[in-house]
Amino acid sequence: MSKAVFIDRDNTIIEDPGYISDPGAVKLLPGVELAIKSLARAGFKNIVCTNQSGVARGMLTEDDLESIHAEVRRQLADKGAHLDAIYYCPFHPQGTIEQYARESDLRKPKPGMLLRAAEELDLELAQSWMVGDSARDIEAGQRAGCRTIRVRIAGETSTTTSERNVDAAQADFTVRNLVEAAKIIVRETDRTGTWEAVTPSAAVATAPPSSQGRFPQPDARLSEEGDDAPMDDHRVRLEILSHLRRLVRHSELEEFSFLKLAGGIVQMLALLTLLIAVLYFLGSGSGRVPVATFWALISVAMQTMALTFFTIQRNK
Ligand SMILES: [Mg+2]
Repeated sequence: MSKAVFIDRDNTIIEDPGYISDPGAVKLLPGVELAIKSLARAGFKNIVCTNQSGVARGMLTEDDLESIHAEVRRQLADKGAHLDAIYYCPFHPQGTIEQYARESDLRKPKPGMLLRAAEELDLELAQSWMVGDSARDIEAGQRAGCRTIRVRIAGETSTTTSERNVDAAQADFTVRNLVEAAKIIVRETDRTGTWEAVTPSAAVATAPPSSQGRFPQPDARLSEEGDDAPMDDHRVRLEILSHLRRLVRHSELEEFSFLKLAGGIVQMLALLTLLIAVLYFLGSGSGRVPVATFWALISVAMQTMALTFFTIQRNK
């Protein structure tokens, strides 16, 4: 089974000037291709799920919609990004085109599009995410059993602060654009995939809600280092690993030096006692032989000890 990121279309991947009915009006939001590429690298399928009630309202046909989506794919492909699938819901109960004028389980906040994608593409919903700019995106994601990220377009004025807070509380994370959403998803995937025992997911920080201001730009750092940024956690782990290796090497080195030093000292003592034994042996006076023998035995013991140290050190 695969995991997926379900992505809303309007105001999440492309600009939303109202109803788009012409491929010429398709304009990607800044940085979306980076987000989609990094999610694909992290093993996610990128699947667009979009309500298109304009079809039911007679503002465009499904053919128009197909050309618009072909244009979205073309613009992404120009930047090296690829969408695995696009699901849309053309229905709306107040539609004017009869065949589309009805309720549908596909229409967000119902989770039908996500469930259909999961069935058709063999997706594991519990490992998947829904990213979108509206409350209905978040609800659809939650009802499908996915984790959710709300994209807050900066300068958005259609909701009051209290509404924003309520909505923000519903999503697992709130971010300013798809690029930030992708970073969170990659980070969370790394964390829960590898470090679950160490870091409970409850401790995960929630990204701050969007601030007021100009149109959101993708993180400049990510734009420059687009290919590396999602690997941050991985790099940190590699650094920790190499640090641990350095520590182990260092302690081995210390042990190695200690053994060498001890061996050297004992070796010198062995030579010294041998010299004493020889001096006693060559000297004059009664009882010199037993004393010389005593020192010779000490010397042999020392020599054995020194050889033992050297052997241990060499076998390490
Ligand atoms: Mg939207």
